Amino acid sequence: MDKIDEKEELTSVDEKDGSTKVNTTSKEKKDNDDGYEKYCYMCRRSESQAGKLIHMPGDVYICQDCMQKTFDSMNNGSMRFLDIGAIDPSKFDFSSFLKNQIPRSQQAKQKKKEKKKEEEPAMTLKDIPAPHKIKASLDEYVIGQDYAKKVISVAVYNHYKRVVTDTMDDIEIDKSNMLMIGPTGCGKTYLVKTLARLLHVPLAITDATALTEAGYIGDDVESVLSKLLAAADNDVEKAERGIVFIDEIDKIAKKKNTNSRDVSGESVQQGMLKLLEGSEVEVPIGASSKNAMVPTTTINTKNILFICGGAFPDLDEIIKARLSKQSAIGFRADLKDKYDNEPNICKYVTIEDLREFGMIPEFIGRLPVVYTLEALSKDMLVQILKEPKNAIIKQYQKLLALDEVELIFDEGALRAIAGKAIEKKTGARALRSIIEEIMLDIMFEIPKDDNIGRVTITEDYILNKGLPIIEMRGMQMLPSSPGDEYK
Ligand code: ADP
Repeated sequence: MDKIDEKEELTSVDEKDGSTKVNTTSKEKKDNDDGYEKYCYMCRRSESQAGKLIHMPGDVYICQDCMQKTFDSMNNGSMRFLDIGAIDPSKFDFSSFLKNQIPRSQQAKQKKKEKKKEEEPAMTLKDIPAPHKIKASLDEYVIGQDYAKKVISVAVYNHYKRVVTDTMDDIEIDKSNMLMIGPTGCGKTYLVKTLARLLHVPLAITDATALTEAGYIGDDVESVLSKLLAAADNDVEKAERGIVFIDEIDKIAKKKNTNSRDVSGESVQQGMLKLLEGSEVEVPIGASSKNAMVPTTTINTKNILFICGGAFPDLDEIIKARLSKQSAIGFRADLKDKYDNEPNICKYVTIEDLREFGMIPEFIGRLPVVYTLEALSKDMLVQILKEPKNAIIKQYQKLLALDEVELIFDEGALRAIAGKAIEKKTGARALRSIIEEIMLDIMFEIPKDDNIGRVTITEDYILNKGLPIIEMRGMQMLPSSPGDEYK
């Protein structure tokens, strides 16, 4: 009979739905009398050690000290704010509250991460600018190279179309990896950099000379993807839509007349095949080669656009020889030296020529878009000096404008600078060093005198035959004789 009474005390039947509910207040009463000692949920001290314990819902007991500590830390701001007055002790689950406590600093980090993910919605067809728009944007920065800009705009447009419409049914669009051939300093890297900036995709620029076959001293082929991953802030998804530019690709040509293993030439080309084609590649994170100590991740290279670039120094000889051979037969035979003075002979390049140069057929086969960039002429160099959005001359003009001094380069001066750059044979790369040298004295002297209002750089000054024209505010001052120092 006693047992039945006890059961009645602990349970009650809900009249509406007939379900049985536990009568908690009676149960608590029972628990308190069970003869076992209670322990504080936080410090694990028993009631005899810690004093009277507070019973929290969820059958949790907390000692006075721990309760006080919890409230103190809440007030210091290190825990989530809890409005004590608003707590309903019968409903409040203290144990889950404690478990869910996250320091504020961590909460902020979590929120930031979520926000960042939200900021980057997936690329859609509308996000890809049409080829003419890509080219127009490239025109703002890159001078000349019209053909290259056109090819790259179309190839990139098609590539990203392929990326966004991933499920292409039975018609699968092939990858449009590219091979860029052009002399040093003609804008290969600059073109790719500008492109990646316009498209807001991660870009990794690497040098093929650093690559070797896995296991040899040097970087593994997969290291190019590690760089891309770093450029994409370790976001694998973002990296899988990026661009990899491999410069100096001509340096991994098959070595001729060698008996030793070609670890930095043909083997690297072999190693790159699987990257270019599109496959799952195990990539070391933050390192240039795989080993047991380095964490790795898997990247699918299916949608990564690979652009290879190189100067291919002796390729013109191979092309010239082929063209001369072809045209030396028959009545209409050309003169033997017909192609000797052709400045952009590389534009006649064929796959055969590249094979002869030392690129293996499987490698060239995976770079279906091949195009050449022209060597920069004097006119183009002059344009590079003054026309692009961030032209070097514009940069110096801005620097001096901050001192309220106007800087003018006359046309003769620009042509003289371009002429000097051509002599150096490093393309547009020479322009910056020449201008830096010229401007050093001017940048040093001008701030000395507040009255100087305008400086004109002349051809004579570039050719070391005269001085720049200095004009004071309100009056004109010409240098008295060449070689004089301006004050
Ligand atoms: P490379 O063809 O050897 O990769 P880069 O692209 O690195 O040469 O060119 C070096 C620098 O010269 C670039 O940073 C850029 O400022 C300038 N430059 C080269 N070509 C052009 C060009 N066609 N238009 C504008 N600037 C150029």
